Amino acid sequence: MKERIELVQGDITAMDVDAVVNAANKSLLGGGGVDGAIHRAAGPELPAECRTLGGCDTGDAKITRGYNLKARHVIHTVGPIYRGGVSGEPRLLESCYRRCFEVAHDNSLTSLAFPSISTGAYGYPIEDASGIALSTTLEQLKRFPEIERVVFALFSPSDLAIYEKKLQQL
Ligand code: ADP
Repeated sequence: MKERIELVQGDITAMDVDAVVNAANKSLLGGGGVDGAIHRAAGPELPAECRTLGGCDTGDAKITRGYNLKARHVIHTVGPIYRGGVSGEPRLLESCYRRCFEVAHDNSLTSLAFPSISTGAYGYPIEDASGIALSTTLEQLKRFPEIERVVFALFSPSDLAIYEKKLQQL
């Protein structure tokens, strides 16, 4: 399963995959961090489509087209805001990754790129979040054999190092 996971340092907006995953907020109308970068790169048609979706619950995911991105689609998911880890955050973060795979499967997609969901403005400690991201991905790759390639586009070298170590441990 691990051979279908690629860990890279880079900007997710440049990824050549069927869908890039956006760490969105519940409004789906755009925001900072990776959300802002995806919206800037996709162009104004993306928020126009997002406005038709009626927002998204934490832990859920919704798909749009990718517009000016290389990726044909964007899967928007809403990670939990970290509040000490005792407010259901692990279960909600796992649900984000699981729902993205389900949406990819429903749309016959075979390659995905994820950012590190919730570990920026939402404050989830990346040591814990990376474990959930990678173990959930391994589970979902078992479930969906047609998904050939999952890229984690980590923004900093230190984030990449944490994901590399975590993947080795799994
Ligand atoms: P959240 O609100 O879910 O925490 P953020 O966008 O604030 O989302 O941060 C999630 C992660 O995405 C952080 O590790 C941040 O460094 C990273 N990030 C920000 N911009 C990009 C980008 N263009 N490509 C990939 N990762 C990015």
